[in-house]
Amino acid sequence: MPTRLKKFLLEGGLFLGGLAASTAITGGTTFLGDIIRKARVEHAMHLSLEEAMEAQEKELGIQYSSKPSLSTFSPFTNSQSSGEYHPWSSCILLRIDYPSDPRFKSPLERMRLTLDHELGHFYTDIVCQKLGIPYPSSTFTGRQLSEGIADYFMTRMHPEIFLHTERGCEYGTEHDLYCGGYWRVKPFLDEMGVEKGVEHLLTRQK
Ligand SMILES: [Zn+2]
Repeated sequence: MPTRLKKFLLEGGLFLGGLAASTAITGGTTFLGDIIRKARVEHAMHLSLEEAMEAQEKELGIQYSSKPSLSTFSPFTNSQSSGEYHPWSSCILLRIDYPSDPRFKSPLERMRLTLDHELGHFYTDIVCQKLGIPYPSSTFTGRQLSEGIADYFMTRMHPEIFLHTERGCEYGTEHDLYCGGYWRVKPFLDEMGVEKGVEHLLTRQK
């Protein structure tokens, strides 16, 4: 290899190495910084998933028959969601970066809250598959049922951060998908238990 080319490659390698180290520390917004953050978040997500599923099985009295796949939003996404669940691929998507929130000690704690919500969607999907029925539809009623179950899971797992403190949700608003959904499913899941309650709500949906 010509010496000049060797020098060019070596200097290029040193430059990228230095950039990687500095973005890992500063959390810079370079593309490389995003790749490093993505790898760290994915590592933390996989460690959290098993623990979160076990904790839900114990607290909610349910059994997971499989695991979802995990991924992160593309750095180029326009989505403002903190997480998403895609029933067609059984995949939970989480953010690389969570905005700072005084209610949480770290972004990882914030991610765990979202993971507990998205697992509620995954559990709903498992029950639908078991019953041979489709995942709740994208109508307001279907989405409210799905978000209500997911927020019920999240709220039971994080009672210290109770989001829906009162029944004062206005029916039909976007927020009511979550708050209204929570209050819609809560009586059934409290009374019948989560497993039977989710089955009941899914089979009687229109
Ligand atoms: Zn959701």
